[in-house]
Amino acid sequence: MNEPDQVILPNGELLHCVVCKNDRFYQNHWKLQTTGMTFFNLDWANRDATCFVCDTCSYIHWFNLL
Ligand SMILES: [Zn+2]
Repeated sequence: MNEPDQVILPNGELLHCVVCKNDRFYQNHWKLQTTGMTFFNLDWANRDATCFVCDTCSYIHWFNLL
């Protein structure tokens, strides 16, 4: 896993954890796919969610970034 780092959001704001106010996060890309979605909308099923996991409390912040 990579080192935790600060995250700048698309609106220019620095991301802070909503739970503990920490500003260091691990970044992951996880599939948004859920069972049953693939048949109706392949594009949506193939998208990744950008996830920032708080370095201190492990809270997951999900973003729909392209
Ligand atoms: Zn936190």
